[in-house]
Amino acid sequence: MQILKIGDRGAETALLQTGLDRAGWPLRRDGIFGSATRRALIGFQRSRALVPDGIFGPKTEAALAPWLRGYAIHIIRPGDTLWRLAARYGSALPALETANPGLDPFDLRPGRRLIVPLPFPVVPTDIPWSSPLTEYAADGLARRYPFLRREVYGQSADGRPLHALSFGEGPRTVLYSAAHHANEWITAPVLMKFAEDALSARAAGDETTEELFSRSAVTLAPVVNPDGVDLVTGALPFGEGGERAEAIAASWPAIPFPSGWKADLRGTDLNLQYPARWEEARRIKFAQGYTRPAPRDYVGPAPLSAPESAALAALTRRTDPALVLSFHTQGRVIYWKFGALEPTGSRALAEAFARLSGYGLADVPYESAFAGYKDWFIQDFGRPGFTVEAGEGVNPLPIGQFGAVYAQVRGILRLAALGLPETTE
Ligand SMILES: [Zn+2]
Repeated sequence: MQILKIGDRGAETALLQTGLDRAGWPLRRDGIFGSATRRALIGFQRSRALVPDGIFGPKTEAALAPWLRGYAIHIIRPGDTLWRLAARYGSALPALETANPGLDPFDLRPGRRLIVPLPFPVVPTDIPWSSPLTEYAADGLARRYPFLRREVYGQSADGRPLHALSFGEGPRTVLYSAAHHANEWITAPVLMKFAEDALSARAAGDETTEELFSRSAVTLAPVVNPDGVDLVTGALPFGEGGERAEAIAASWPAIPFPSGWKADLRGTDLNLQYPARWEEARRIKFAQGYTRPAPRDYVGPAPLSAPESAALAALTRRTDPALVLSFHTQGRVIYWKFGALEPTGSRALAEAFARLSGYGLADVPYESAFAGYKDWFIQDFGRPGFTVEAGEGVNPLPIGQFGAVYAQVRGILRLAALGLPETTE
């Protein structure tokens, strides 16, 4: 994380507030570093014997890490028992056992490192998303649920890792992606929360979740465009591309900055990058005036020229999924075709998704009908691919909408993994 001090604001300040709040210094997680945040930070620093300067730097971050990632590391000492450790950290025995497979509670060997899950969910759903949050949440989930698989499937144009999370051992593979578009970052916590819900339900032995794990293997790419997300949520360090983006945005005064920004930081729209009649998308967008880097709708110099889109395409080929979901906001609508292409099973799934979410089904408007991720998937794989335009309002949807959005799409996330029961028609 960046160094944070009074007067700062943005997603990283909200993350700091979340950590302090979880650690026992109650705070509003409003993303504004004011005097209350400073007081809480000084209190935390004092409690850890750090210099109480009210500035959040690397040492304070290291001390606060357990409350950012959701677990502590405990080195077993003579006399420790699991029950005593659980009580001391506010943890629960089943959580400790899940996080430390093979641990014998009656034979705790001194010196062994224990992962101690802390008593709150890893994924916060009340603060804007940011790259540090991806790192902490992915780490926290992987440590608390060792059966989660993690990989870095590529790097963004500005060098941020592109994270994928996978779980489940079944033959039906599915791949869900989110936050292609920077100001649609609320879709990232949707996938992260889905992962946490599935993992914790699996650990608790929930039967329908066990079915999901045995039938499916789910891969999530929760933040396709981390550079752009950080720009929109105020988490981008100074000098790391934000100024270049601002210079691009200056020639598009009708698009608010940074809240209207969808592209990567070079001004390429990552969801107009896929080789699915890309030239047609180019013709349409050029006719609309998007002939050069822009906050949105510029198709880029060539298909898959942006590393984020190329990496997702490669991940998709490697995963070879039976289905993909691509999450966007907003409009409460599901797109499920590419031109006249309608892979087997797509219509039935789309109708089921619509029933579960209350969303409408629609054909994509002609000016947006080409070069998207789901278009490419349907064209090249001939299998069901969906764009879900979640929620309703003006992008970026405020995080206060998270609960409603998640409730709407939860059923889609589960059913897409399970697939429809075989029917005889
Ligand atoms: Zn979008």
